[in-house]
Amino acid sequence: MNTEFPTGLSAAEAARRRAREGPNELGVERRRTVTRIALEVVREPMFLLLLGAGAIYLAMGDAHEAVILLGFVVIIMGVSILQEMRTEHALEALRDLSSPRALVIRDGSPNRIAGRDVVRGDILILAEGDRVPADGVVLQAHELAADESMLTGESEAVDKHPESDRVYAGTLLVRGQGLMEVTAIGTDTELGRIGKSLERIDAQASPLHDEVGRLTQRLALIGIGVCVALALLYRALRGGWMDGLLAGITLAMGILPQEFPVIMIVFFALGARRIARQRVLTRRLNAIETLGETTVLCVDKTGTLTQNRMAVAALAVGERILEVRQLGTDALPERYHELLEYAVLASEIDPHDPMEQAFHRFAHDYLASTEHLHPDWSLAREYEMSPELLAMSHLWQGKPADPAVVASKGAPEAIADLCHLDDAGRRRMDRQAEALADRGLRVLAIAKATSGRGAHWPEIQHDFDFEFVGLVGLADPLRPEVPEAVAECRRAGIRVVMITGDHPRTACAIATAAGIDGDVVLSGAELAGLDAGERASRIASVGVFARVTPQQKLDIVEAFKARGDVVAMTGDGVNDAPALKSAHIGIAMGKRGTDVAREAASLVLLEDDFSAIVAAIRLGRRIFANLRQALVYTLAVHVPIVGLAVLPLIFGMPVILAPIHIAFLELVIDPACSVVFEAQRGRDDLMAQPPRTPAERLLPTVQLVFSLILGALTTIVCLLAYREFLVRGTALEVARALVFVVMVVANAALIFSCRSPDPLWRRAGGGLSGARAWVVGSTLVALAGVTLVPQIAAAFAFQVPSPVLWAAAFCVGIGTLALFEVAKTALNAMHRPRTG
Ligand code: ADP
Ligand code: MG
Repeated sequence: MNTEFPTGLSAAEAARRRAREGPNELGVERRRTVTRIALEVVREPMFLLLLGAGAIYLAMGDAHEAVILLGFVVIIMGVSILQEMRTEHALEALRDLSSPRALVIRDGSPNRIAGRDVVRGDILILAEGDRVPADGVVLQAHELAADESMLTGESEAVDKHPESDRVYAGTLLVRGQGLMEVTAIGTDTELGRIGKSLERIDAQASPLHDEVGRLTQRLALIGIGVCVALALLYRALRGGWMDGLLAGITLAMGILPQEFPVIMIVFFALGARRIARQRVLTRRLNAIETLGETTVLCVDKTGTLTQNRMAVAALAVGERILEVRQLGTDALPERYHELLEYAVLASEIDPHDPMEQAFHRFAHDYLASTEHLHPDWSLAREYEMSPELLAMSHLWQGKPADPAVVASKGAPEAIADLCHLDDAGRRRMDRQAEALADRGLRVLAIAKATSGRGAHWPEIQHDFDFEFVGLVGLADPLRPEVPEAVAECRRAGIRVVMITGDHPRTACAIATAAGIDGDVVLSGAELAGLDAGERASRIASVGVFARVTPQQKLDIVEAFKARGDVVAMTGDGVNDAPALKSAHIGIAMGKRGTDVAREAASLVLLEDDFSAIVAAIRLGRRIFANLRQALVYTLAVHVPIVGLAVLPLIFGMPVILAPIHIAFLELVIDPACSVVFEAQRGRDDLMAQPPRTPAERLLPTVQLVFSLILGALTTIVCLLAYREFLVRGTALEVARALVFVVMVVANAALIFSCRSPDPLWRRAGGGLSGARAWVVGSTLVALAGVTLVPQIAAAFAFQVPSPVLWAAAFCVGIGTLALFEVAKTALNAMHRPRTG
């Protein structure tokens, strides 16, 4: 391929076009606008109930009450819209980051930009695995082929040649490299014309989602039943349809678990943002819940566990091995010159592969003044590596009169095969290769051949008459943070398994250094010989898979899945896509990764770094634990609402709660949950317990019971206080205000008790900080306003109590905290709950 780049557009011109012609977006999938969100909020049952209550007040001739309720409608709408926008923003940011990227040449140098910033006239560098971001003509192509099934339905890859052929937005490059010039973007592309959209980040249904859905549905059904019963009861006991209906609506508002789905999406969206701070992008939100269940983590070796920064460490020619470390600034002995010469010849001219870069660097340092570098030769033919033959060759033409020179490099076995080594030669090579591999070096063998002048060049590498030159050992250091991250996984009950195309011994040495169990190694060839059943039983003890092909990754995922494991797997290439899709959590490498791999994955690592995965798992567990506590809380606070709506009626006491009170409570509850619980740091031992099993419910019975008990305690305290006030002859409006104080303060206290299944006093740093201080503070200010400012109190059917009584009610509310903690301790003693 011609490696000369055109200069492309200037940054200024690109910016001008971007401003004039807009972003490269299909615009099929409209973003959720404020109006759309508002419309969705209006359809919420809670909203309809409020309107219903308002209508009944109006019908009863109570315009004042109706107006106040409508005021609440506006506030609730505002809060919901704000909350939704926040969620939407978090998701939108992630979408932008995980959408296809483009490598564009501007001002003569390549830049990676977001696909939406591509403009007409841009020159793009194309590579295997890319999703083409716009329509355009092919300028240069090297074995370029595209899968255009998205447009044509034809799954056969289409070869692309320079000058005449076009490539289309949304199609996938399955092979080769090339350059294109963009001719159409956004809706002007073929894809835009047929109105299709690329797959974007999705909030697909998940088991957790379904569970919350079921819970919500069940509660809603119970709610409707109880409400109808209450309305009838009211009518029977007190008379008056309108009041009965109002009581029913009040109760319905209290029961309706409208927060549950909201909490879910808020936790996942904000959780995704938290995870993004660890440089991990979430493409599928439900991956967040699965993260905490991961039992097996299958990771690539090169680049994920290691730095993918190769350096030549040892050279072997004949019997002798040269340690580069000992060479220092001395000249490279003559006997190794040819080895290095052919290593460079077998590499690309301007290599991206770190191994080839290492050869170039080394040659630059040690061969610069020799006759072993050939900048004047031209690369006439390339032979690619394949899973069947792990070797690649380059055929070079020097002077037209000279025979062509062939240089090959590859796995020692492959080169031995190409060179037809005899037994002695083979044994010597194996011995040397193993000695180098045992030190964790990647070993490449180098071979040379010549090919007749002007003859027909062979189609396959086997048809050359190769001669063995020597071995090169390359060091690729372990990432320093890996051993600690692997140890953390071990403590968290997660098995880390290495998958590599490298030599078993190299793999084993690196595994051991990383702290991965390298005792049992399974090779790709062995794996291929096993049937599905044998695979599932064999892999139980395997820590390292070596010399496997990317295609075999799928078999490995399936085998783990068959054992009931929850599998997370990393990958970057086109061939990795099926395995990434099949794994419970596919993790694509953002830097090395192709678009295909990223689209198949549910997480994308921005830094191709193993410890980021572990950090994401920790966050996944934390998010789940927080979600559980939030639901425990939400459920608990609904109990007194229901209780205070029904019980006074049954006990013949005056009604306490009206729709307006519940509207107020809902305003307090929602922000409290989403903010306070979402931001919790989680217990220290989150990563010291085994993974949660998929069968474990979000709200196990113990937690459910715990939640109901807390709610029941609050209800009882409120009712007793109410009775006490009434018995003492406190005016009804004052008593109501006081009960309300007790209830709201108790709800705030609940936040502290529900934060963790651990007792309050055993937790460090459980004080008032950040979000919690805000929520608690503003709740109390609002409460004070409602009960202490006469004008506002009147709207709530309250009368301002005396400071002493108010303080008494406040203390009763705080006092519930002690009750909650006692209940928790008692329950803990009976059953030790687990989080995460
Ligand atoms: P990994 O899982 O470590 O990324 P790869 O699948 O990239 O391993 O490589 C597997 C084997 O293929 C290597 O051990 C090496 O023998 C051979 N190989 C990889 N890249 C090259 C290359 N550029 N030239 C020659 N051989 C290579
Ligand atoms: Mg590789």
